[in-house]
Amino acid sequence: MRPLAAHAPAKINLCLFLGPPRSDGRHELVSVMQSVSLADEVRLLPAAEGVASDEVFCPRVRGPNLAGAALAAFRERTGWDAPPLRIEIDKRIPVAGGMAGGSTDAAAVLRLAAAAHGDVQESVLLELAAGLGSDVPAQLRPGRVLTEGAGERVQALPDAPAFGVLVIALDAALSTAAVYAEADELELCRGEAELERLLEQVREGVGADSEPLARPLMVNDLEHAAISLAPAIRAARERARDGGADIVMVSGSGPTVLGIFLGEDGFKRAHRAVERVAGTGPLVIAVQPVGAEFGEPRPIEAA
Ligand code: ATP
Repeated sequence: MRPLAAHAPAKINLCLFLGPPRSDGRHELVSVMQSVSLADEVRLLPAAEGVASDEVFCPRVRGPNLAGAALAAFRERTGWDAPPLRIEIDKRIPVAGGMAGGSTDAAAVLRLAAAAHGDVQESVLLELAAGLGSDVPAQLRPGRVLTEGAGERVQALPDAPAFGVLVIALDAALSTAAVYAEADELELCRGEAELERLLEQVREGVGADSEPLARPLMVNDLEHAAISLAPAIRAARERARDGGADIVMVSGSGPTVLGIFLGEDGFKRAHRAVERVAGTGPLVIAVQPVGAEFGEPRPIEAA
């Protein structure tokens, strides 16, 4: 197999509305996710001689890796019998930071395996993505995506108008499951009818020329739960506000804090804010939205 590489971009949630839990224990959600230019680099290569099975090298993540699970599921579903492969991941996205790092790596492996295989339908990839985790389907084709259900229903949206994002990663990790449990404890869930109404508003709210989503809808229902478990988020939010952000939010289940800078000059303004906010967390950077082409597999030379 020819060695291939792909960017696996992080996502931010432009909104995350939390509905009631379903019979399978997962919550109904309405969310607009946007891929951004902070990305892991994922490579798919032939394994070294003598290696008998697929392997994953992802130095910053201990334990089972979702990227390896993605390759195993791909082989099982498609019957692909390529010789043993090696997945290498240069991890740049904060781990357990609410930016879907594991999910985007898994989605990138599905794109890479599909490119190497050469004949796999999109519907098969989506089915595999849904089986790997609720955030994976939305990462399959990077861009701006409306998600419903527990994340398994995804609708690609046109690319968003330009904006910039100040990302403040914190020296803390939050388990997504723990944040949802805290949200239940704090009774943050909305009713079905309200979620339905919000879905309609979101569908309209992604149509503006100047904002990636209508401003009043840029809300994350998990934010209070994340702050309750990681109070350091509060100070980081204030720093982002002091840095001049138009909107300050927590990303997904946190604890990463986002400062959204709207408009054509948003990325430039987010860049300037980095200096003002430097030191708030281990990673403070400015990023911008990216589309599907950013995550396309490309050939590389084997090392
Ligand atoms: P989400 O935003 O989807 O809720 P997250 O960004 O908060 O997720 P991840 O970075 O995806 O969290 O990591 C969650 C856990 O998944 C980690 O603690 C890690 O043990 C495990 N994991 C497995 N594979 C990966 C991977 N490739 N990258 C990061 N974490 C992984």
